[in-house]
Amino acid sequence: MFEKEKICKNCGRVGKEKKQVRGTLSMELSLWILGLILLIIPPLGGLILIFALFYSLYRLVAPKAVICPSCKLENSMIPMDSPMGQKLLQEFKDKQDD
Ligand SMILES: [Zn+2]
Repeated sequence: MFEKEKICKNCGRVGKEKKQVRGTLSMELSLWILGLILLIIPPLGGLILIFALFYSLYRLVAPKAVICPSCKLENSMIPMDSPMGQKLLQEFKDKQDD
């Protein structure tokens, strides 16, 4: 089935919103690597590994952020067929005509 088209109230992009996992993979990897390297200093390495584990879990279970594929703003996409969506569509069309 087709998903309803949406419009971004920030940049006017029309289309589907994008779902994004929270946090970043590079942060997650850095924590794991740092933790493993610092295992030579027992309490510190262990603590960072525990933190890395929680960070990985957080990324796994936290609800995905819904973002605009163009401007990456969170929760900025609204349904096109709503009154607000229609108004925005008109506004962004007017801007393009200038
Ligand atoms: Zn946008």
